[in-house]
Amino acid sequence: MQTTASKLGKFFFIALSIIVLVSVTRTDAAASADVLDNITFAGGYTQEDVAYLRTNLQLLQTRLPAWQQYVAQAGTIVFAIDLSEGAHGRAATAKCCDAQGRGVITFGFHLGQSPDDAGQTPEAKQVAFIGTFIHEVTHIRDQRSGRFAAKTDYKSCVAAEKSGLEKQLQVKREFAAANSDAAFAMALNQQISAEASALMSRGLWQQYCGAFID
Ligand SMILES: [Zn+2]
Repeated sequence: MQTTASKLGKFFFIALSIIVLVSVTRTDAAASADVLDNITFAGGYTQEDVAYLRTNLQLLQTRLPAWQQYVAQAGTIVFAIDLSEGAHGRAATAKCCDAQGRGVITFGFHLGQSPDDAGQTPEAKQVAFIGTFIHEVTHIRDQRSGRFAAKTDYKSCVAAEKSGLEKQLQVKREFAAANSDAAFAMALNQQISAEASALMSRGLWQQYCGAFID
């Protein structure tokens, strides 16, 4: 037979457990809501796209908080998926700003499913996505602050793209420095060395800005 004291003890233990459980759940919900706070989705996106972006923003938040801040400081963003852009060979584009003053980032493929990354590991796809996302966020930030506002010729195109590509490489370098996971390390090393040498090559600018050459 239980004493009143032990019944009371049991009651308080259960009550305390419930309080702890509720507060842990609340903290998780608040954290996941935060990273997508300034982002709205448009176009033919799926819940998988939303989850993929959330996962990667949470990765930035925990592993590279300065880069999560970098994204947040880009202001309100509309994140769109438009498969017709991908069909024309455009993996991602950025425009700032729309009529409501929001930066618009359009991906030509569902997130993590670019045909450029077919056959790669999930980690390599994630690293590529983070790089491309930061590249596009850089365009939004640059355009908001009046830098490289228009790509009107080869020179202004190279200046704008150089800004995006350098940040794309920088986030991967800082990720590599903060990372201890073997699968991420392999993907990071491979992409960093490929992109660092591409930045030195003429072919890269031809690829990004060749349309401006007569
Ligand atoms: Zn770009």
